Amino acid sequence: MKNTVQPAYYSDTIAAISTPPGEGGIGIVRLSGPDTLKITQKIFLPFKNNFINPRSHSLIYGNIISPESKEIIDEVLLSTMRAPYSYTREDVVEINCHGGLLPLTKILQLVLEHGARLAEPGEFTKRAFLNGRIDLAQAEAVIDIIRSKTEESMRHAAFQLQGKTSGEITLLRNLLIDLRSHLELSIDFIEDDLEIISKNKLLELLYQALEKIDKLLSSAKIGRILREGIKIAIIGRPNVGKSSLLNRLLNEERAIVTHIPGTTRDIIEETININGIPAAIIDTAGIRKTTDEVEKLGIERTRMSIHQADIVLLTLDVSEKLHEEDIEIIKEIKNKKTIYVLNKIDKIFNSESKSVQNFLDLIYEETFSREIPHIQISSLTGEGIENLKKLIYNLIINKRIDNKNDVFINNIRHEEALKKAGYSLLRAIEGVKSKLSPEFIASDVKEASENLGIITGKTFTEDILDNIFKNFCIGK
Ligand code: GDP
Repeated sequence: MKNTVQPAYYSDTIAAISTPPGEGGIGIVRLSGPDTLKITQKIFLPFKNNFINPRSHSLIYGNIISPESKEIIDEVLLSTMRAPYSYTREDVVEINCHGGLLPLTKILQLVLEHGARLAEPGEFTKRAFLNGRIDLAQAEAVIDIIRSKTEESMRHAAFQLQGKTSGEITLLRNLLIDLRSHLELSIDFIEDDLEIISKNKLLELLYQALEKIDKLLSSAKIGRILREGIKIAIIGRPNVGKSSLLNRLLNEERAIVTHIPGTTRDIIEETININGIPAAIIDTAGIRKTTDEVEKLGIERTRMSIHQADIVLLTLDVSEKLHEEDIEIIKEIKNKKTIYVLNKIDKIFNSESKSVQNFLDLIYEETFSREIPHIQISSLTGEGIENLKKLIYNLIINKRIDNKNDVFINNIRHEEALKKAGYSLLRAIEGVKSKLSPEFIASDVKEASENLGIITGKTFTEDILDNIFKNFCIGK
């Protein structure tokens, strides 16, 4: 069943520990709901005055006591946010106590015994949404901020929390709602042969909306990168310096570096930060013809890693000639986004720089392209590593971030809804072109605007809410 947002104002009061488990300087038990003040009054004894009608956004010092045994549980600071000026738009109290498991659980226990119910995961944020303080895209931004692994992804989540994404979607949705009412008017006047909106104007507006959706959808790819990061596979024949390169990128000794070819038999995966983008780097077993069963397995896994990677760093040893094995690998990754990493540049003297050119010429011959991204590095000295990172960033992000303030779609749910809205608009456009009756076109436009409404939560189902809020922690 589809719902629309109307302030729900719940009848029950929820409570939870809002700080992470474990020991800390302070811990917070949070309450929200109509009985928040009543429950708190029973268990809180301020050192001054009383707690009958506290001001909103005030901080009061006192003790939490068990009303039955009169035992003092903890010395606390209590912050009060009165409805509707709170996170949930309900009365909210946060009990700031000492941050140990025992004081926190004892206080929570007391609160539950005196009329509150344990909150479900994300229930405070769910109430903020259902009471109309934030929309669904903003609620999702809350979890994105909590979970963000890089500054870049956090910046975009904060952007979404401010309502930038929702603003853009709402504009688009309003345009479609307008369009639909024009179309519905046309249905009413169809008998009179009165054209409310010309076919050309209609097409123009539909294309405009579709273009906006396409733009948002193309930002989704970059959104995914910012959220989930990228996968980079380091490949190359044995002993070219793959593990050394991985270590350089990680700045620490993780993979085993040896002189014996073929030692990195397993796949090592580590995460580095490339200009704010998390990148999982997979150091692979190398690819070469072998009879060793264990190594064969490693090579199969290397092929899988190549398949999964967003970008491949094909490592070559420029201090040697290009091997037959190198050429085999170059052929194997022809269709993959690749950076040719010319390693061991420290072994080449200036006079020999021609050898690098010869090396590149041979690669050009194999790839039939003179536009191969390449870089000279030394994993031994670290020369060129920063430039390699820059090159990776540029190849992955390209010019997709034109304006840092552009709205990004970084949520799969939003992406799906946009795709559906796009399909409906395409159908509407086809309908106009084939002179379908306006009611059919209106119905497609309606579907498109409903799908946009799903993003901000103008329309939602219980399933959608459950799916979103189950990812939250209790207390948020
Ligand atoms: P892998 O088999 O491709 O992982 O290669 P390793 O990283 O284990 O390196 C093989 C050998 O090459 C080791 O002795 C490294 O110290 C050496 N090596 C790696 N990179 C460089 C480099 O840039 N310059 C020099 N001179 N030696 C390197």
